Parts: sequence; structure tokens; C-alpha cells
Amino acid sequence: MRERHVVVVGAGMGGLVSALLLAHQGVHVTVIERGLLPGGKVRQLQVDGAAIDSGPTVFTMRWVFDELFASVGASMDQLLKLQTLDVLARHAWADGKHLDLFADVQASTDAIGRFAGLAEARNFERFCLKTREVYDTLQAPYIQTTLPSVMQFTKVLGARGLATLASLGVMSSLWESLGRYFQNDKLRQLFARYATYCGSSPWQAPATLMLIAQVEMDGVWTIEGGMHALPQCLEKLAKARGAKFLYGQSVQRIHTAQNKVCGVSLTNGETIEADAVVFNGDVSALHAGLLGPAATQATPRGNRQRSLSAVTWSINAKTSGFELDRHNVFFQNHYAAEFKDIFEKQQLPSAPTVYVCAQDRGAGSTPSGSERLLCLVNAPAVGDQSLLTDEAIERCQHLTFQLLRQCGLEIQTTAHNTQRTTPMGFHKLFPATGGALYGQATHGWMSAFSRSNATTSIPGLILAGGSVHPGPGVPMAAMSGKLAAAATMAHLVSTNRSQRVATSGGMLTH
Ligand SMILES: Cc1cc2nc3c(=O)[nH]c(=O)nc-3n(C[C@H](O)[C@H](O)[C@H](O)COP(=O)(O)OP(=O)(O)OC[C@H]3O[C@@H](n4cnc5c(N)ncnc54)[C@H](O)[C@@H]3O)c2cc1C
Repeated sequence: MRERHVVVVGAGMGGLVSALLLAHQGVHVTVIERGLLPGGKVRQLQVDGAAIDSGPTVFTMRWVFDELFASVGASMDQLLKLQTLDVLARHAWADGKHLDLFADVQASTDAIGRFAGLAEARNFERFCLKTREVYDTLQAPYIQTTLPSVMQFTKVLGARGLATLASLGVMSSLWESLGRYFQNDKLRQLFARYATYCGSSPWQAPATLMLIAQVEMDGVWTIEGGMHALPQCLEKLAKARGAKFLYGQSVQRIHTAQNKVCGVSLTNGETIEADAVVFNGDVSALHAGLLGPAATQATPRGNRQRSLSAVTWSINAKTSGFELDRHNVFFQNHYAAEFKDIFEKQQLPSAPTVYVCAQDRGAGSTPSGSERLLCLVNAPAVGDQSLLTDEAIERCQHLTFQLLRQCGLEIQTTAHNTQRTTPMGFHKLFPATGGALYGQATHGWMSAFSRSNATTSIPGLILAGGSVHPGPGVPMAAMSGKLAAAATMAHLVSTNRSQRVATSGGMLTH
């Protein structure tokens, strides 16, 4: 094949994985990223002299990366230092109740028994059997393949797979379905929260999202140097295979000729020719026309409800009063109200759930002085509208730290040691999203089939990232990058063939 050039727009997880896989196959790759570093949402903020992971913090599904690294002749274990966490997450409620979940399922069962009684421990065991079954059913036919149609999907699932999904209650929400396993409200709340990993409400997300519980039970790891070490490593591997990276440059138009992608132009006026373009931004940027008129119709708009945004605080401070673990979740009692506020009223929650990642803890370590924290509460993705006033954000901040105090945790925050990011900030970083961090919400059974696929209606325009199939999250976005690389190679091969047909007077030259 003559040397072909692919432009990858965006160095998020999906873009980096595509760039790496394409470069590994000998394709000439240029990655154009508007930020100054690789990673996109996998970002670190410097706060008071400390580098704080301020995007994803829960690293799961390491097999996705083990396979990826192996496929380019590398080893993740040799390039990154990963450590398994024994405690998956520590959960606390304002009434003083605590529950840890462990990597060891028996330890979790025992903890649940102590927390809610023997019957709930047995229910947890039933729940684990079901989550394993759902995960195994969906992994190959949905997560690892190009978005199937409902027809293809049901065919691949077969009678057994269909029976597994039917047993969840076909139209049940995650919340309803959890009610069949747990009598204890706190346990139901804890497992319902997994819907938010896809930026969705447990009351609207399908019961299949219980598979996220399985993903966590299969292991949570920390990466030495923080999550940001992962995109940096992928960039290095891609560069070693010839990929070029242009940072601080935005693509403002994807060009087509004869209804095929032919290049991009940048905000600095430069034009770069390309045989294919992998777009790693959110698909809503295409729809909004931010990449020019040709790309607006590239993929169906569907009925896309935005996923959750967040208000986050990156903090370097001393803490006291509560024994934090690496991942901590602080719950209010009024769980439904949080999602009503966000999805129905489009306002910040008056009773937020607070996630705290204590980045110097886990695997036995306890910091002595200041420690690095990311606090996060869910928020509506309305960062492009003037719905969230400064007052509302201040109130949200007050409620957030009030809940932590009610649970016993004091954080000595100051203006210097704390950096806040709001849905408006996320919207600026990820244009056309309103600050939605996970693409479209996974609401309703059909939503899983309404995400965009890697391929679009424009030959040579390929999509990768958390807003396309198979969905959001670091490993899933990486998986989409793999699917995008395969779609790009297929496009390059088919156009190479038709070029040869054209130059050989219509004769196929295999
Ligand atoms: C606060 C937060 C917490 C999260 N927690 C977790 C977690 O614990 N675990 C987990 O697995 N996932 C988590 N996620 C989700 C996960 O981070 C994302 O799903 C994943 O990283 C998205 O990758 P992506 O491929 O979609 O690229 P993105 O990260 O969206 O990056 C896209 C890149 O494209 C660039 N770009 C866009 N348009 C252009 C243009 N026109 N020109 C040039 N560049 C452009 C952007 O600047 C950006 O760098 C979290 C996300 C956030 C924000």
C-alpha cells in the first residue's frame, strides 16, 4: 500500500489508541490536539505544587490495555507500574454507617453481612452471579465489536444470552432491577450508583448496567505517576512508531472532495491533506457544525440526552476525622432527588452524592501532611446555558463539604490549595457538550443501540471516543479507538483498491 496519511483529531484515549494502532501498521499518522498534553479528560491539574488527577481515577478492565500493548509488541507491566487495590471503595452515609467493598468477593460478602444481615449477604451472592452472567453475555457481542443492530445482536446472543437479558426484566431500569436483589436501601443505592459511571440516572438506565459492578469486582488498579501516565505512555509508543503530535492546534474544518474525506484545516490557517480522519472529540461537536458543514450530517443525531456533567474540586490539603481509603463515596439519604434535580430540573443537586479520590492512599499508604484529593459531585450538562449561577455553584460547594463534615471528614481547603471545575469549564474543554462527560446518557433499553458507530456516512471520517460505541470510560474509549483503527484500515484498503482500479483502466489488480 502506498504511504497513506491519517489525521487523528484529539489525543484523548480513543484518539491515542487509534494513532498507536495505525502507526504500528505503517500508516503515516498526525495527531492534532487543541490542548497542550495527551489525555483529554485524563488530565492532571497542578494545585499548590501538586499534580492532581482531575479526570478519571478508577482504572478498571486492565485486560483491554494488556491486549492493546501486546498487539503492538509491548508490555503494560514493563512500561507502567500498576497496583491492585484490596478495597474497591469505601462508602459512608451521614448517619454514620460505613461499608467497604473489596476485590475479594468473600470479604465483600462478609462485610455486607455485618452491615445489613445474613439475608442481604446471600442476596449479594445472587447479585454477583447475575452481574457475571450479564458481563459475560455482553462482553464479546457488544463491547468488543462494532455496534450491532438489534437484529444482529439478538442473533449473536442466541437463546441463552437472550434468556439472561430477559431475566433482568426487559424494560426494567437499573433501580427497579436492584430492588429484586436488595431489601436494604443503602445497598440498593450503592449499586445503583454504577449508572453514573456512564453519566446516567439509575432510574432511567437499563438493568444491564449492573455489569459495571462486575467490572469493578474484576479489579481496580492504581497507576504509579497517576492516571496521566497512561496517555503519556500511549503517546510515547505511538511516537516510537512514527506518529507525529501537534499540540495547541485546533481542527476547525474537516474537508471532503467527491463526498470523501480529503483533509482538515486548522485554526492557524494550515491545511493538512489526509486519506482519512479519525475524530476523537464528542460527536455533538460534529452536529453543532464545529468541524464545518460537511461533517454535520455524518452521523445521525437521534434523540441524544446529554450525560452527566460534574463539579469537581482538585485539592492539596490536610484531612482529619475520617479514615479515607483510595476511593470513597459519601451518600445522602434522598438518592432519587439527586437525579430529579439534574435530569428533570437541570439544576445542581440539593442532596449531592460526593466522590472523593484520595490519591496518596490505597495499597497500604497513608499520607502524613497534605494529601491530593479529587472531590466530585454530579451536575447537569448545561455549561453552555446560563442556568448555573455563581450562587448556585457556591451553594453546591457548601452542601458538598457539609455532607463530608456530617460523615466526619474535614478537609482544610483554602483558595490556594483548591481548584474547582464546573460544567461551564468542562464545556470549554470539550466543546458542544455543555460539559457532558460521558457522551449521551444511557437511558432506556435502546440507548445502547443509538450511539454512533466508528464509521460515518462520509467515507474516511471515522469516530473514536467515549461518545461513540461502546461508550464512555477509559477502557471503553480505548476500545472505541481500536474499533476506529480497524475501520480506518478497512477504508484505506478499499480506497487503495479503487485507486488501483482507476489507474489500471478499470481492471482489478489484487
Ligand atoms: C471528572 C471525570 C471523571 C471520570 N472518571 C472516570 C473513571 O474514574 N474511570 C473511567 O474509566 N472513566 C472516567 N471518566 C470518563 C473517561 O475519562 C472518558 O470516558 C475518556 O477518557 C474519554 O476519552 P475520549 O477518547 O472520549 O477522549 P476525550 O478525553 O474526550 O478527549 C478528546 C480530545 O479531543 C480534543 N479535541 C476535540 N476537538 C478537537 C479539535 N477540533 N481539534 C483538536 N483537538 C480536539 C480535546 O481537546 C480532547 O483532548 C471520567 C471523566 C471525567 C471528566
